[in-house]
Amino acid sequence: MPVGALDPYDDRNIFARILRGEVPCRRVMEDAFALAFHDINPQAPVHVLVIPRRAYVSTADFSARAETEEIAGFFRAVGAVARQLGLEAPGYRIVANAGGDASQEVPHFHVHILAGRPFGHRLVPEIVVRSSGSGAERDPEPG
Ligand code: 5GP
Repeated sequence: MPVGALDPYDDRNIFARILRGEVPCRRVMEDAFALAFHDINPQAPVHVLVIPRRAYVSTADFSARAETEEIAGFFRAVGAVARQLGLEAPGYRIVANAGGDASQEVPHFHVHILAGRPFGHRLVPEIVVRSSGSGAERDPEPG
């Protein structure tokens, strides 16, 4: 179920358990600010998650509460992971889902690094808006 970007932090979430070493991951790199590991259900040939070491629910929470040094260190780690994986020349996309409309599933702030094929210009699937009397319904466009 999608999480609320402003929910209180729940330290039973799967990324908190990975950080504590209770659940294994395929580690890419780690430093004082961040841990990077391969997504268990990759949506691209390269799909790596980068998470801060400290507990933040979402982009909203991280950007509001993290120390400036932590925010800088985290995004340096995102860049370092892409460099380490050789993604700078071919290119890559970073995505951070926040809250319900973005379908954030894990309530620990994270950035997805997606690479390994061209993604095209669209950032999101097409949405068809249908008017149905009492309001609009939104369906993903087939294909
Ligand atoms: P979100 O929708 O919250 O932005 O993305 C969460 C991501 O975490 C998903 O892409 C999902 O595949 C990944 N994920 C969920 N559980 C695990 C896990 O136990 N291990 C790893 N490596 N990735 C996970």
